[in-house]
Amino acid sequence: MARLALVAALLCASGMAAWAEPPRTSPRPQPRLQAAPPARIASLRPAPAARPIAPAAIEAALAQAVSTAAPTRSPRPVPRPRGAAAPAPLAVPTVTVATASALAPAQSPPAPRRGLAALFAPRPPKATRGSVCGDPAITGTEIAVIPAAVRGCGLSGGVAVTAVAGIPLSQPAQIDCTTAKALKTWVEDGVIPAIGRKGGGLARLDVVASYTCRPRNNVPGAQISEHGLGHAVDVAGFTLANGSTLTVARDWGRETKIMRAIHASACGPFGTVLGPKSDANHQDHFHVDTARYRGGPYCR
Ligand SMILES: [Zn+2]
Repeated sequence: MARLALVAALLCASGMAAWAEPPRTSPRPQPRLQAAPPARIASLRPAPAARPIAPAAIEAALAQAVSTAAPTRSPRPVPRPRGAAAPAPLAVPTVTVATASALAPAQSPPAPRRGLAALFAPRPPKATRGSVCGDPAITGTEIAVIPAAVRGCGLSGGVAVTAVAGIPLSQPAQIDCTTAKALKTWVEDGVIPAIGRKGGGLARLDVVASYTCRPRNNVPGAQISEHGLGHAVDVAGFTLANGSTLTVARDWGRETKIMRAIHASACGPFGTVLGPKSDANHQDHFHVDTARYRGGPYCR
């Protein structure tokens, strides 16, 4: 019975007194409390104002404490479950610091949860540094809107692509994302396999034109080219790992197998593919663009 009185005294003292000054406000300090590590006590101090405890809560705590009191137990508080939103439940073995804090939930230190919240906070999906168009295999930068210099030109939502599928471009290609993705698919699934291990493999795509506001084939009065909308890229050739090159102008008729395979593989990812077979304007480069036709890709 004397033990019960002691427990009640402690609970009243711990609940009503200001925790900032336990020795002065607690009439009969518990030896266990003094034995607790200073760090524990300090962690319970953030709220200086004590909150009154409901009589029912004290009764419940007392009943719990008496029924489970174990004098040989360590007075250290039971560690809280990680990530728990609520403070420790009343089911602690002895009348300890943890029990007192359970009766005053507002005094729980928020700092650890802030750390845990940061730990479990959702993270943004990882993106490859410098990637654009939502594709980690397309490297470049987003570019400002290019206003239409003449009717039929202009590019908004464009990107300056510097590499696709790990293959750098000789100059940034200013195109839209649809065209950037087609370029990546062509290089990845067409150009790289077609070149294979020749010269150590593909090392660079030799781009000679992308966004340009001009009429088709530079003919005055002709319809604006797909280049004027950021839909087209002109590729003059391919640099290999050993420094050698494959050019459309020189190798279309020499490295026939490779060059025809490269040309053919552009047909599909791109809606229009023009090479040396098409006309006099495409003897030294492949023109590829993403314009689509009802009859299917136009590839010459
Ligand atoms: Zn072109």
